[in-house]
Amino acid sequence: MALTFKGGVFVGERKRSAKCNIEYFEPKSVLLPCGAHSLSVGQSVACGEALGEDAEGIIWHASVAGTVKELLERNGRPYVRIERDESGSEICPVEPAEKSLSELSPDEIVEKIRLAGIFGLGGGRPTYKKLMAAIGRADRLIINCAESEPYASADHRVLLERPEEVVNGAKILLRALAIRAAYIGIEENKYDCADAVDAVVGPGELVRVRMLKTKYPQGSEKMLIHAITGRELGAGHSPEEVGCMVVNCRTCAAVFRAVAYGKALTHTVVTVDGGAVSRAHNIQVPIGTSVEDILEYCGVKKVDTVVLGGAMTGRRVEDTSTPVISESSLLCTSRRQRVRDGDNCVRCGKCVTACPMNLVPAMLYEACRRKNAKKAQKLNLQSCIECGACAYVCPARLPILEAVRSMKEPASETACANAPQTELVAELVEAQTDEKKDGAQEKDKMTRLSPKEQKKKRADTEYAGVLSAVDQWAEDAGMDVKGGGEAASIKELAGAFEEDEKNG
Ligand code: SF4
Ligand code: SF4
Repeated sequence: MALTFKGGVFVGERKRSAKCNIEYFEPKSVLLPCGAHSLSVGQSVACGEALGEDAEGIIWHASVAGTVKELLERNGRPYVRIERDESGSEICPVEPAEKSLSELSPDEIVEKIRLAGIFGLGGGRPTYKKLMAAIGRADRLIINCAESEPYASADHRVLLERPEEVVNGAKILLRALAIRAAYIGIEENKYDCADAVDAVVGPGELVRVRMLKTKYPQGSEKMLIHAITGRELGAGHSPEEVGCMVVNCRTCAAVFRAVAYGKALTHTVVTVDGGAVSRAHNIQVPIGTSVEDILEYCGVKKVDTVVLGGAMTGRRVEDTSTPVISESSLLCTSRRQRVRDGDNCVRCGKCVTACPMNLVPAMLYEACRRKNAKKAQKLNLQSCIECGACAYVCPARLPILEAVRSMKEPASETACANAPQTELVAELVEAQTDEKKDGAQEKDKMTRLSPKEQKKKRADTEYAGVLSAVDQWAEDAGMDVKGGGEAASIKELAGAFEEDEKNG
């Protein structure tokens, strides 16, 4: 039975990119953060060479071999522009592990991950910090391959094409954590990934697959932990506090390359999709490649909206010279201008049902819009995981997520005021409306049936509806609908369901 959480929405998959193999693209130049300016213009650098370390202890590496062309500041942080040359010189900043995994100490693994500059490829803290915090506290390692954002398929392709890197990375992390249970969470729309993992994982291995229901935001840390372990992660708490460490599957692959081959994190896989690209792509690019270069590679000639990070949670890119960083795994494009926001809540309550954090988004929106911080705190603003499910279901098209973000991050109010996803959400909603139209055509067909046939068809449909209600109820109650578990027969389940309904 697929695991899941309460709330959330079905946003439609729109994953045509899932069938696209990873391509490789090297731009003429990259723009990289570099910690501090210890470099000089004209200096030659090799791919993988350390460029500097920032105050947080994050080491930045050159993602191409070439020459330093410019030192600059962006948003108060030092950056370096490197022009690529054809030398192809590469440096491995980490000593590749010569000993077997069981001989490596947790400290050695942490240090290798730090030196390789591995940063959460699904977002979040530097991996070495996450690992240090989890050592001695986590008893479960969860590898996130849920990828519930519409359009996104970078994780899918990496797991499908490089399953051994992900599985071996998971084993390295298990060794560092000194635990024996890792679960790869995969949504039901990626059974091919589960097969790929099964093909490299032997029987009785410590890394196992857990299938998850295809639902948004299944890929959120909190939802994933709840679906796989049943543990609740409260607002403001980190996974290790409930005994878990969660890493993205691409981070796992990077950990493997760092420990086994001494390679720094220099490249990332980006899905490019949306209305402005004729063909979807999954491209491996050096970190620091500009959005502009990626769009040009994909043959995009005209684009009105570019969103980095996904239709539901991403942010609009105003300046296409913006470089992609390690966590930028999705670039969505649209040929439409910003959709006008609505302004009146119609009190339908859909956002409340959709919110996976049990908040009341309609009230939260009102408090944030009026800049009433006290009320927003009372409504648990800090618990909002910024998934955007409320904005997606809202029939009034209220910019709920933007309002919440501007309240949470007043300093970046201008960035938040730019709609992150309204155009793309509008496309998704339209696609679902088309699916509903297909349903209406089905209804038309019904009216052409004889009264007897109509009666039979309705009875069948109603029966299917009852069964799916029972299925849902059984899943919520943690029972196995398919049999082989606690409650085997659908009759027993239906009886228990009716009893439960009667008791309210
Ligand atoms: S209020 Fe926050 S957590 Fe709830 S659905 Fe909206 S964005 Fe997601
Ligand atoms: S979904 Fe939109 S219109 Fe409906 S209650 Fe929530 S905010 Fe109001």
